[in-house]
Amino acid sequence: MEGELKEVREAYESGKTRSLSWRLSQLKALLRLLYDKEDDIFKALEQDLGKHRAEAYRDEVGLLIKSVNYAIGNLRKWMTPNKVSVPLVAFPSRADIVPEPLGVVLIFSSWNFPIGLSLEPLIGAISAGNAIIIKPSELAPESAEFLARSVSKYLDDKLVKVITGGPDAGQKLLDHKWDKIFFTGSPRVGRIVMAAAAKHLTPVSLELGGKCPAIIDSLTNARDRKIAVRRIIGGKWVACSGQACIGVDYILVEEKFAPILIDMLKATIEKFYPAFDTLSKIINKHHFQRLASLIKDPSVADTIVHGGSMDSDKLFIEPTILLDPPLDAEIMTEEIFGPLLPVITVKKIEDSIDFIRTRPKPLAIYAFTQDEKLKNRLVSETSSGSLTFNDTMLQFAIDTLPFGGVGASGFGQYHGKFSFDMFSHKKSVMRRSFLLEYSFRYPPWDGWKLPFMRSVFHFDYVSLLLRLLGLKR
Ligand code: NAD
Repeated sequence: MEGELKEVREAYESGKTRSLSWRLSQLKALLRLLYDKEDDIFKALEQDLGKHRAEAYRDEVGLLIKSVNYAIGNLRKWMTPNKVSVPLVAFPSRADIVPEPLGVVLIFSSWNFPIGLSLEPLIGAISAGNAIIIKPSELAPESAEFLARSVSKYLDDKLVKVITGGPDAGQKLLDHKWDKIFFTGSPRVGRIVMAAAAKHLTPVSLELGGKCPAIIDSLTNARDRKIAVRRIIGGKWVACSGQACIGVDYILVEEKFAPILIDMLKATIEKFYPAFDTLSKIINKHHFQRLASLIKDPSVADTIVHGGSMDSDKLFIEPTILLDPPLDAEIMTEEIFGPLLPVITVKKIEDSIDFIRTRPKPLAIYAFTQDEKLKNRLVSETSSGSLTFNDTMLQFAIDTLPFGGVGASGFGQYHGKFSFDMFSHKKSVMRRSFLLEYSFRYPPWDGWKLPFMRSVFHFDYVSLLLRLLGLKR
């Protein structure tokens, strides 16, 4: 490991990553990797998670191809310095914001979207001109091995490396000094990462999880109801069997609508999964046991209204719906991260707002409603990484929206230009002219200098002049 880190650092210091051509060449190489090795990715995801190839393409390969193409198309613009206006006190001068790479960055990824969540931040880190070490999760070993094999083959292997291993490898990596650490994973390990980063004052982004609620208003139109139910299932079981950070964790619905909703969920699950053979498996025995224990307690088990069957050999848990499990049970206090879906009833749908506000800020809130007043209240009265009306998960695919958490769901936003910004330092560059020299800036402090300075700082004469000359609106 030491040798690899030294090599990456030295290669970064050569300045190679700074050019547009290196960055573009790496993004194009990544695109080639995704096209050439699609089948290998499908196989790795099938072995690690039992992910169907359609789901693997929908949630990982396809999204990555879209993101790389977006970065390739915008990179020149992102790298261009931004000219900004200057106040009178600095006139005449020029000021620019120049993005520069941070240096050597460390990316930790999780096991649920092991390819997507390793390569999506990589796109931003390359675009911003950094050297990169990726540490994939050991819990998805085929995907980690695939990344180690193919990244070194397709990308510049002196500047982009994959280091595999478990917590020990992670700890060793954290002992080193990095210029940025980007972490996707649990709050527990997030704390370890932050503590290690603090020693070197390394900036950190934490992409964590939490409990993402979906509010379902009693939609009046039958077609809309049907679509809402499909989209909820798409954002729960179809997304890695509920093992997704932005997957639906639980539903909030009015008491009177709950039975209708549950019937519709059951019918659609049966339609989507007649034999459950395309449903992803639970990642390992430990997580299987964790999920099983969430519904073992009789006070919770008694609330199961659909599903509940499981097979520990196949790591299979049936899509399971619970109606009003106790709110102090673990299933309602911890992130579920699996195929169990509590439906929580409220008297009025507006009560959902208080329900959410009294809990940690989620990574995502979903709300299915046509009520504009409710939408506006949710926008202004709740806080979450994202808020999506009438769909689930799709916000992740929008390059022009920042993706990340707030409060307990993490901090630091990426995707599209936000990724470029996350992995860049915005350097202020000022180019001053020798043309004018203002003596009011210096002693001796004559009586006129203070009032003069006041007028200079208080009033934007430069803008006024530019406006008078028609050069600024
Ligand atoms: P995790 O925290 O167990 O592992 C994440 C990474 O940290 C892995 O690469 C792992 O090898 C490494 N690691 C584990 N222990 C370590 C240690 N002691 N020192 C250094 N490194 C260590 O998380 P996970 O189980 O892989 O992922 C599940 C969690 O991730 C869930 O909470 C989920 O919500 C969250 N998540 C968030 C996002 C997001 O984009 N916000 C996406 C996916 C998952």
